[in-house]
Amino acid sequence: MADILPHRIVRLVQLGLTREPMSSEHIWYCTGCGTCTTRCPNEVPVAELMDRLKADALQELVPLGDVKIAEFHVLFNKSVCKYGRQHELGTLRKLKSPREMLGQIKLGLKLFRRGKLRLRPTKIKDRKAVREMFRRAGVSK
Ligand code: SF4
Repeated sequence: MADILPHRIVRLVQLGLTREPMSSEHIWYCTGCGTCTTRCPNEVPVAELMDRLKADALQELVPLGDVKIAEFHVLFNKSVCKYGRQHELGTLRKLKSPREMLGQIKLGLKLFRRGKLRLRPTKIKDRKAVREMFRRAGVSK
């Protein structure tokens, strides 16, 4: 459940009160879908703002609103930065205990058979360009 809704987060940031939004749960629930950015009558780039708040929250070591999602966020970024795309199994192995992984074995096998879960990461050719993008955006990886 969201603790501070996007319109309030925007207002707090406008007022220079960024610590509260950085510690909120909501920034971690934002998937960056861009719906609010597209629909905002005041053209506020909300999705980009959420990304910035996530990066700043990790950098400034504020108490995180949702540690589990923040951990996933960091691992997701690391994987994309390293391979140019997400390696789901690698991320899962770092997030879940072996016991939790075993509990999901049925689903895992189903996804594996459909080619949706790969044992080894697949890499894009120009990984250097992706790393450069992360560096320029100043995003934690
Ligand atoms: S970008 Fe999408 S998920 Fe994020 S706050 Fe806006 S509508 Fe919600």
